[in-house]
Amino acid sequence: MHQLTIAEIIRGLRDKQFSSVEITSHLLERIQELDNQFNSFITVTGDQAIKEAAAADARLAQGDAPALCGVPIAHKDIFCTNGVRTSCGSKMLDNFVPPYDATVVDNFQQAGAVSLGKTNMDEFAMGSSNESSFYGAVKNPWNVERIPGGSSGGSAAAVAALLVPGTTATDTGGSIRQPAAMTGTTGLKPTYGRVSRWGMIAFASSLDQGGPITRTAEDAALMLSVMASPDKKDSTCLDRPTQDYTANLNDSIKGLKIGVPSEYFGEGLDSEVGARVQEALKDYEKLGAELVEISLPHSKLAVPAYYVIAPAEASANLSRFDGVRYGYRCENPADLRDLYMRSRGEGFGEEVKRRILVGSYALSAGYYDAYYNKAQQVRRLIKQDFVDAFDKVDVIMGPTAPNPAFKLGEKNADPVAMYLEDIYTIATNLAGLPGMSIPCGFAHGLPVGLQIIGNYLDEARMLNVAHQFQQASDWHQKTAPAAE
Ligand code: GLN
Repeated sequence: MHQLTIAEIIRGLRDKQFSSVEITSHLLERIQELDNQFNSFITVTGDQAIKEAAAADARLAQGDAPALCGVPIAHKDIFCTNGVRTSCGSKMLDNFVPPYDATVVDNFQQAGAVSLGKTNMDEFAMGSSNESSFYGAVKNPWNVERIPGGSSGGSAAAVAALLVPGTTATDTGGSIRQPAAMTGTTGLKPTYGRVSRWGMIAFASSLDQGGPITRTAEDAALMLSVMASPDKKDSTCLDRPTQDYTANLNDSIKGLKIGVPSEYFGEGLDSEVGARVQEALKDYEKLGAELVEISLPHSKLAVPAYYVIAPAEASANLSRFDGVRYGYRCENPADLRDLYMRSRGEGFGEEVKRRILVGSYALSAGYYDAYYNKAQQVRRLIKQDFVDAFDKVDVIMGPTAPNPAFKLGEKNADPVAMYLEDIYTIATNLAGLPGMSIPCGFAHGLPVGLQIIGNYLDEARMLNVAHQFQQASDWHQKTAPAAE
């Protein structure tokens, strides 16, 4: 039963091949049995899941089942869940039980989905390896000595290990796409503003965006149709109605123009990863698409611009964790200053502190123009590169990440090496564009991700393009050995 995709579960439930309680219990047992190897969950809400599944079964029996009625999913532990601890991977929020649901969580509840729990993540979504979590590193189901990618490493590993067919995740600089690439799963980061950020703990507000991780593009379409909604509670959320993202999956892609940026195939790209991506592009030609060489000349400035803007926004967003209102508080503070300093000093991990320091520095009076303003100007140039490219092409493709999953601990001592993991994904966040990663083969025995970047609000086309590839290939059906 754990092999089933979301689309298959929906059919199986409606055809009464199994009940939601049955599949939910089965997956909870798998989590219990297998997840000590992967550490992909921080919190498992078994009793609540069974209750939700029983309610879903009743609705299915009455014939008033909404879109995902009875389908098990899990949420990244960055989405607030009413009555369920929401840690954001941090000691700071280890004791935080939100009194409300994020809009995304609420949308899935309205759609009848059953939440199995909360998935592990890098602390405050800062990282590319899921090693910065207060709850310990997540292990890649393809090889448990390797990282699953980050920051949504738990969401990706749980799907790759067949513990749950779909998860929510977030992407500020690559955190949906890079872990999807590392684990052989399908991940989609929508256009900035398509999915509500209300109740999604903020890292860098102008870049953060929620999206799904699944095994297939069809499942990503099913989840996105529920996730993406207008929301008055988030002023940056686009005022667009919900949409059926499955509607165009079967359209032909004959004549599709695929832009291939030369900058994405240069130095630093593992040659086997590059070869798999080139092979995927050839497969697209066979499906009738046309490859067009393009240039995104400011690509090399994306990582440096991001590492000014994201920490700057993070330093402001994380100032709310002060030991006073909620979250971690140090023992026996001597005075208010001591309370602030020790609560933050003891509550935050190293990477989070590094970002707060960098961000506060970049925003300080003497350096604001030199760093923050400059980075914003660069951001504008990066966006313009994409706008120009989309005059000529329908989608852009390249590798998701420069290498397959690396060993746990390998890049911990060198933050810059870790930051370069997102060299191909960060620019889309700076531009606010949607992007996907789908499996396209193996390098050194590990999954490789093909990145598909779409124009603004062109998620339906990206999903169509991804689905057509998955109809003609079976990379997305390969299963991690540890998931057998
Ligand atoms: N790896 C990037 C970072 O550490 C992106 C993280 C993310 O997308 N949340 O900031």
